[in-house]
Amino acid sequence: MEIKAIRGFNDILPSEIRKWQFVERIAREVFEGFGFSEIRIPVLERTELFARGIGESTDIVEKEMYTFLDRSGNSVTLRPEATASIARAYLEHQLYSFDPVAKLYFIGPMFRYERPQKGRYRQFYQVDAEVFGVGNPMVDAEVILMLMHFLKKVGLERLELHLNSLGCRACRPRYREDLRNFLKRKTFQLCRDCQRRLQMNPLRIFDCKVQTCQEAIVEAPRVIDFLCEDCQIHFDKVKEYLQMVGLDYILNPRMVRGLDYYTRTAFEVVSYHLGAQNAVTGGGRYDNLFKEIGGPDIPGIGFAVGMERLISLLPNERHTISRPHLFIAALSGEPQKEAYRLVNQFHLEGIWAELDYEGKSLKSQMRRADKLKARFTLILGDEEMRKGKAILRDMDTHTQEEVFISDLLKIFKEKVSPQKSTPS
Ligand code: AMP
Repeated sequence: MEIKAIRGFNDILPSEIRKWQFVERIAREVFEGFGFSEIRIPVLERTELFARGIGESTDIVEKEMYTFLDRSGNSVTLRPEATASIARAYLEHQLYSFDPVAKLYFIGPMFRYERPQKGRYRQFYQVDAEVFGVGNPMVDAEVILMLMHFLKKVGLERLELHLNSLGCRACRPRYREDLRNFLKRKTFQLCRDCQRRLQMNPLRIFDCKVQTCQEAIVEAPRVIDFLCEDCQIHFDKVKEYLQMVGLDYILNPRMVRGLDYYTRTAFEVVSYHLGAQNAVTGGGRYDNLFKEIGGPDIPGIGFAVGMERLISLLPNERHTISRPHLFIAALSGEPQKEAYRLVNQFHLEGIWAELDYEGKSLKSQMRRADKLKARFTLILGDEEMRKGKAILRDMDTHTQEEVFISDLLKIFKEKVSPQKSTPS
């Protein structure tokens, strides 16, 4: 029987890869322009890093982690998100000893055992950015500015920035209690999961998609009405700095984010083209995370962009698969050997050339050149070759000319500039 991929685990095929490469390139350019450095973290971590970092009562830790015992009996987990791992690496390698402020980004796959559906997979990719070591609200606005700039540069339109404050350890418990008391009166309206959440972590109920749960929270108390003085000042400053950097936002007191480690600023960017799973990205401040994972008191803020969702929003036309610069159609014998020599000479110069390996007829080689959408085709026959010449056909304009084989490399170097993968 043919072996198929596991449900929720996708292949990214060559026909899609241009978009991925494009998004990754823009991410690197934008983030590095804001002073961020790339970090690469392992796929596998000790389970307790996520259990403690993300929070035991979150959906991720409760039911979505790929956790198993390795051959030595240690509990390990495929990373469901990057922040906890990046924080661990920052502590483990004492990156703070060089400079307490670290701006780091990461691009890679995450793993969550969720019910696969459109826009929700078990392996999915995130672009992640984190700033450690600054509690000042200036950084909150700066990180959000970088995120919005990145999304704009990849070409996303009709985006809304949703903003909230989740308070801190001083003020959130009072809010949580108030919310719990409010929702207790509506227990009969809540789904089974939310009835459990009501005990464990009532804020999670905001994330539930069940209609009756959504209705139950319509008039729920709002976390921003419970902020302590410090959190209120922080939130006001974030709004002020967002205005200073020219960003519009929508205050959304119902957006609470699915991870326990968030404190104060929380944000999501929503696209109207995505439907139910409409958050392209989410993030926030997490001033308790470092302590949770056994480190000192270090503030942090960051975001994660879902690559699949982002890519589903990009227009197709601009990221079509590229075409060979040249197809060399040759008669068998000496011309084919010459074609082989030329193709590899071209490859060493970064020029994409193709040839026929199977000794097919010239006609069928020309058909393949057409199918591959080669920009030019070089036709190598016995007669021309004896004169050191070949026919170069422009496949877009359908014109052709005789050229000296010895001039070919020069001709193509002029046609293909280093930045362009496809000659004009
Ligand atoms: P989170 O880490 O849950 O805040 O998610 C950040 C972003 O990652 C979301 O806004 C989504 O775009 C993306 N994301 C989260 N879970 C999945 C998933 N299961 N499949 C695809 N993308 C996801």
